Amino acid sequence: MSEEFFWWNDEQKAIYKDVRQFVEDNLEEAEEYFWNTKFPWPLVKKVAKKGYFGAGVPKEYGGLELGATGSCIVAAQLGRLYAVGHVFTVSMLAGLEQVLRFGTDEQKEMWLPKIASGEELGALCITEPFAGSDAANVFTSAVKDGDEWILNGKKRFITGAGVSDRYFIYAKTSDDKALRKQYGHITSFMVEKGRPGFSLEKINPLIGFDNVPNGYIDFDHVRIPDINRIGAVGKGWNVMMAGLNFERLIGAAVFSGLFEDVINLLFHFTKRRVQFRKTTNQFPGVQEKIAEIITKAKVSRLFSYHCAKLIDDGGEPMVEASIAKMINTEYARDIGLKAIQILGGDGLTKFLPAERILREAKIGEIVAGTTEVQKMIIYRFCAMLPSYNKPMRLRWNDEVNAPIISRKESQFMGMDITEENVLKVISHDYKVNPGLYMTPDDVREDIGGGRSELRKIFEQLEQQGLIVIHRDRSGKTALVKATYEGLQKAFPKEYYQWFPAWYENADKF
Ligand SMILES: Cc1cc2nc3c(=O)[nH]c(=O)nc-3n(C[C@H](O)[C@H](O)[C@H](O)COP(=O)(O)OP(=O)(O)OC[C@H]3O[C@@H](n4cnc5c(N)ncnc54)[C@H](O)[C@@H]3O)c2cc1C
Repeated sequence: MSEEFFWWNDEQKAIYKDVRQFVEDNLEEAEEYFWNTKFPWPLVKKVAKKGYFGAGVPKEYGGLELGATGSCIVAAQLGRLYAVGHVFTVSMLAGLEQVLRFGTDEQKEMWLPKIASGEELGALCITEPFAGSDAANVFTSAVKDGDEWILNGKKRFITGAGVSDRYFIYAKTSDDKALRKQYGHITSFMVEKGRPGFSLEKINPLIGFDNVPNGYIDFDHVRIPDINRIGAVGKGWNVMMAGLNFERLIGAAVFSGLFEDVINLLFHFTKRRVQFRKTTNQFPGVQEKIAEIITKAKVSRLFSYHCAKLIDDGGEPMVEASIAKMINTEYARDIGLKAIQILGGDGLTKFLPAERILREAKIGEIVAGTTEVQKMIIYRFCAMLPSYNKPMRLRWNDEVNAPIISRKESQFMGMDITEENVLKVISHDYKVNPGLYMTPDDVREDIGGGRSELRKIFEQLEQQGLIVIHRDRSGKTALVKATYEGLQKAFPKEYYQWFPAWYENADKF
């Protein structure tokens, strides 16, 4: 698994070797912070000194300029250092893409070197008590007062709350209903720790992310200058969306380095654990589970770097980023469960680094857009993709006496557009697709004619009880099918009959 991918450039290959070595050298120290439940400040400073926080930052702003691929490489490795991976991820995500894409030159000069240096950590603040998956429903408000903005409200579940110095937040700048409908009511801002009225409210005790502070923050009439506004007023949703693919990908990649450590642990352990006078690695059930874990580790890694390449090539891989986020976290949960099962009781103890992956995976399935939300994105975008929505028609083929997928013109094409012929088209479709309705465009593709001409005929046929119309929410004809009476009127009963060759005539009636 420790292989490089052939499409990585020399710098990416070099950082991979470098960060791997760094992690190997610091694993023990990370374990100590985990056991003491201490925020690993000295380790975070070491990461900052190595320049890793600048993985995705352009060189002109003090970064390493290694793109999404380089950021994934670093996240995957630092993920092995417990809290460090999450802190790295969120600090980089708290403004990097947003400032790069929407910041002015002055803002880039102001923030990007800070992100790259890692000397001050960053936090990303979207979630609120009443805005979770529905991220647009923010209540935190920002009101303009001269050259300043006044912030009021609360954010919650913020990773790095307290230990961070920079908070990239989304606030409501309008209550206009029409604007809200177009997601034009949100604006994004950078808020620094220390501003009067900005305070930490609570630190959450969580199932995982053991030594990463996660909490609520409070803005009580917090004043910030207009220079801290990133992007235009009302464009906060675009700012949020622009960074999401990168965020989901990096949030996914942070799990994949752990998979390697778990596999390592499983081989080590099962070659030394003896039951029924055999080492447990000899049991087929154990081997099968390890094979499944290795498969998932490899698939998730490959998919993450595929997605990173798409981003580095200038794409907006919405679907791939959601898939990467979903599979990496689901796989992490499954790998955690299987690893514990293989290790038996020892796997349930904190003495072995296996139970942690299960606890973190559960967080992964909720944080940065739940698995359900990722599936919603995958479905909605794919439902619009031309490649998944090519014309596909089954047509009756007399030679084989069956419906087959065909590009041939319909037998009805060229006929007069009359009630009788349109009913024939719709009834014939029953013979081909008995359980399906036709769209008005399907009918038009079969017989021709204009849309409004056909619409009128559909309504006339409906009034006579010969077809059923399924209307959309706006009342437009969406789908049509023949009624029993319509089928009878269009063709004789025999037209719809079909029997396989082996079926006895004597048994037909
Ligand atoms: C450890 C941790 C760290 C976090 N870090 C940060 C951070 O740094 N910054 C930040 O802003 N936020 C952070 N979050 C918040 C996180 O992004 C949200 O928890 C997440 O988006 C889900 O919101 P919610 O918890 O309010 O759940 P809800 O949105 O209330 O969802 C509850 C359930 O309903 C389902 N659901 C909701 N809407 C739909 C829908 N339309 N269709 C189908 N199912 C749906 C969800 O999938 C889920 O199963 C963090 C959360 C955790 C637990």
